Amino acid sequence: MKTTVQDLQRRLIALGFPLPKFGPDGDFGAESIAAINNALDELAMWRDVGEKEAAKGAPLAILDIAGTGSTTVAGARANLDLGQPIPADWMPDAKISRIIFHWTAGQNKASDLDREHYHILIEGDGKLVRGKPSIALNSEPKTKAGYAAHTLNCNTGSIGVSLCGMAGAVESPFNPGKQPITRMQWEALTSVLAQLCKRYSIPVDRKTVLSHAEVQPTLKITQKGKWDISRLPFDPSIQGAIAIGDQMRAMVKSRL
Ligand SMILES: [Zn+2]
Repeated sequence: MKTTVQDLQRRLIALGFPLPKFGPDGDFGAESIAAINNALDELAMWRDVGEKEAAKGAPLAILDIAGTGSTTVAGARANLDLGQPIPADWMPDAKISRIIFHWTAGQNKASDLDREHYHILIEGDGKLVRGKPSIALNSEPKTKAGYAAHTLNCNTGSIGVSLCGMAGAVESPFNPGKQPITRMQWEALTSVLAQLCKRYSIPVDRKTVLSHAEVQPTLKITQKGKWDISRLPFDPSIQGAIAIGDQMRAMVKSRL
């Protein structure tokens, strides 16, 4: 049985892991992740101290948060079903060491042209769309004809994932245009990145899971003024490529 984000949030609150800022809003954000981690840590603690009898009811109730019936903390984390699974045939065998995430600077729907440049696209409602090039074409040691050209001089060994949107956006003064990227896309990206990291055994750090805007400062590979993703139209409280990248990496790590 699948657990929706809202189901999960309601159970967390009922079990005493509050969501003071956002409540059960259906958005799987940092607050929900923190509450789940607290619940899972509490479960682990019950186990560790061996208070099996005293804790009898509690661990089961907490496990039910994830709706998985899993008997281990790692299993419960892994089984949280909050994102759309990437079909297995989208992820062929390939030597991949990095994932770069973008926005398309186009519409909230993936166009034919968008699909030429990325391996996976995420539309405005969180739906996943397969790009035209196979991930295998960007495999190391050398990209092959027809590969996804998503990041200047940094395509070999790199998967390109892109959020559809930001047509007509302006960096400064910031204007997200008429098709801004959405929180739903941002959350779907967390799930996509976690699945890709698992599939290709990619560690989550600043050099291996990063936005296009982080490529120049972090990898020292010059890009032509790319600023995706250094602003989140739905969350003005966080700004700058590295800060936003760090937030995404923390969310991905919490899913692994
Ligand atoms: Zn880009």
